[in-house]
Amino acid sequence: MTEATAPIRARAAGAGWLAKLEGRISWILLGLAGLLLPLLDDSYIGVIAQRAYIYWVLSAGLNLVVGYAGQIAIGWVSMLTLGAYTTAALAAGNVGTPWPPYLALLASGVIGAVFGVIVGLPALRLRTFYFAMTTLGFATIVTQVALAWKDVTGGGVGTPGPTFPWPFDPGWGFYYFCFVLAALATWMTANIGASRYGRALVAIRDAEVAAEACGISKPALLMMVFLLAGALGGIAGGLFASLQSYITPDAFTFEMSVLFFIGILIGGRGSILGPALGTLILTVLPEFAAPLVQWSTFLYAALLLLIVLVIPGGIADLLDYKNRRPVPQPELLGRVLGTQGGNTLITLSGIELHFGGVRAIDGLDLEIRAGEVHGLIGPNGSGKTTTLNVISGYYRPQAGALRIDGADLAFEQPHVRAQWRIARTFQTPRLVGAASVLENVMIGGTVHGHGTFAESMLSLPRHRLDERVLEEAAMLALSSVGLESLAKVRADRLQHSELRFVEIARALMLRPACLMLDEPAAGLSAEEIRRLGGLIKAISRGGTAVLLVEHHADLIFDICDRVTVLNLGKVLAAGTPAEIRSHREVVSAYLGA
Ligand code: ADP
Ligand code: MG
Repeated sequence: MTEATAPIRARAAGAGWLAKLEGRISWILLGLAGLLLPLLDDSYIGVIAQRAYIYWVLSAGLNLVVGYAGQIAIGWVSMLTLGAYTTAALAAGNVGTPWPPYLALLASGVIGAVFGVIVGLPALRLRTFYFAMTTLGFATIVTQVALAWKDVTGGGVGTPGPTFPWPFDPGWGFYYFCFVLAALATWMTANIGASRYGRALVAIRDAEVAAEACGISKPALLMMVFLLAGALGGIAGGLFASLQSYITPDAFTFEMSVLFFIGILIGGRGSILGPALGTLILTVLPEFAAPLVQWSTFLYAALLLLIVLVIPGGIADLLDYKNRRPVPQPELLGRVLGTQGGNTLITLSGIELHFGGVRAIDGLDLEIRAGEVHGLIGPNGSGKTTTLNVISGYYRPQAGALRIDGADLAFEQPHVRAQWRIARTFQTPRLVGAASVLENVMIGGTVHGHGTFAESMLSLPRHRLDERVLEEAAMLALSSVGLESLAKVRADRLQHSELRFVEIARALMLRPACLMLDEPAAGLSAEEIRRLGGLIKAISRGGTAVLLVEHHADLIFDICDRVTVLNLGKVLAAGTPAEIRSHREVVSAYLGA
């Protein structure tokens, strides 16, 4: 693998360190400003900065939930409330003996993590809007409990916030505490964002079905993210309690929750730097425009509207290098991805699937063999895509069995198909428009990583190895479909035909034993179809079983070893291309004269 990508890497290395510096310069400047701010010796500015850091600790985690995973967690202020009361109550000795403040802060992180997961659970079942409402409902409950549970929280009168002892004592000590924690939160979430987990989150957001087909399990991943976002929210709460020095339930307003949420949206979804700046701006702005504070809700809304209309991608879009329109130069196809061929055999027997009264598949038998291209043709609505969806585990048929090498495959578990190395593309390409072509292809290899979520968060060696291997494999897959020159381009800048090839490259990342293509030639020019044919043929020669759904008869008859014709969910004919071409019923019903 290393050898094959060497020329590509060498070309990229030239501009490598400069591009790296360019990517980091904003962070370096922000870090320097933060480190040197105490030189101003202005405690008022210091307090504003502390508030901004604390908010960012929460927003950094929330950013993974909202910006990356696309979950509308609008009431995340509840984590701040929980954390603030946990730290304050424990440190003040409202429950048992007083805890050391640092330990109390740690406890608020744990409480935040636990409740982050609890609040996040509904996201697995509820649609976006309803999930937003549950997070808001939870925030209200937390405030009500804080009001009622007087022994611990002091009720409406409140309770004193903790004072951290040396080295992070009030003043610049505490300032650096907040700064370091904000930097740490940034570092960890940026690591996640740039890892296979981050790409998987974005895939869940923008192309959920494709994410599942790549083997990504939404529940497991979302729970990790809710846990991290909850923990960071809880810790932010503990810091907030100390900053406020006295906390009452009305310190945690709906407006604050909206601030966190909007800060991320203004920053731009799927970015770390954008939301960090967004949160910073929203925290600092009201301080310098005090008379406007009573208008803040209105101003937030106006600002959001403006951003959505003028720069829909947020601040991040203005800074985004991937946002440049490429000059497409797809190289000739032909460099083939080495697949480790086996003798996989996939059999469908007696599959029946109806949607209400519609018999989409009506007793289908099919065999797909390694090293062969199996064409699946038929008029529109004859059940081709549905057959693919059954094989990829998306639907559960009412009758029949699906086996791979004799083993029964379960239905309705699309993400488990990746373990059997069954990959697919979609009739309408499903890609993450905001991610680069390379990142999109890397999503296809998510299941091959070995590092855990925590290892990625801390950027440990196994995570880095994962990333290197994944990137190399993705570049190889891209070269094999002739698109390596577009690796760094945003996927939504590509032409339709290019998207189809990117999807194939993503599917190749699984090193598929079986590859299913749903009308890959649709929308392609004659020349592109010719290249596609060569590519598919080469993939099957490597030992992969290919199931090809297609309308272009020429392509089917050129490259298929075997063809099955469907009509109304039933097999109308099956055989070699020559047999099908001369099959009377097929010719009269489908192929025409
Ligand atoms: P093809 O890919 O061969 O054009 P499909 O497999 O998409 O056809 O569809 C087969 C039949 O099943 C069509 O009549 C279609 O309307 C119906 N169908 C497919 N998916 C669904 C669904 N999710 N709900 C209801 N009907 C469906
Ligand atoms: Mg179809």
